[in-house]
Amino acid sequence: MLPDIVGIAEQHGLQINPYSRSREEVACKCPFCHEDSKPGKKRRYYLSLNSKDQVFKCWFCKESGGVFRFISLLENIPEENVKQRFRKRRIVHPAERLSQNQRRLLREHTGVREPNWKQMRERDFSYYMRSLDLFWDSWKEFLMKEQRDAYFQLIVGIKTCTYQNYIEKIRQREREIESPLLESVLQIYSCASRPKWTEVAERFVDQFKTKPVSPEPKKAGRDGG
Ligand SMILES: [Zn+2]
Repeated sequence: MLPDIVGIAEQHGLQINPYSRSREEVACKCPFCHEDSKPGKKRRYYLSLNSKDQVFKCWFCKESGGVFRFISLLENIPEENVKQRFRKRRIVHPAERLSQNQRRLLREHTGVREPNWKQMRERDFSYYMRSLDLFWDSWKEFLMKEQRDAYFQLIVGIKTCTYQNYIEKIRQREREIESPLLESVLQIYSCASRPKWTEVAERFVDQFKTKPVSPEPKKAGRDGG
């Protein structure tokens, strides 16, 4: 199995467009030409990473290739050395890096029990890898749901002027799921063209806004003493 190109990009601190994350083509800032880091190009992401075929291409500078070339360019070492490095060590599937706690959350979310991975791995390695792929997909779906929930909270916070409370709630959830949320939802919020589901969240919150959210009425005479 080839190394996960999106994971490699993350390890090297590349800036990923948060709402391309769950797609097959993940967009990020190009570290080779830096064209999309120029002023006025804040929302441009020229480098495309294909998370299925593990290939990359910058549509501006046309730098392209497979994941080994990607690493070799990022680390400025010959591609052959990169390949050697990966031949030597067994590649860890990203799903294998999920913590016990993350796996528990995922089980609770999907309601599906995990198989005996160790046994499966010994019996049929390619079946094991395919199962890990599916497991990883459901984790990504779970994260998408979490992102939507966090976005919803952000909108509620903004529209009811209790922003700080909701930011704290999102931070709390980040700690629970051991994955970042706040930065990506803030990025989505600041995007000129937001994904469709954000409109639904905003309409939903607006509905509630029409009912006045007023503070609890004070008992008469209390303040007056
Ligand atoms: Zn480029």
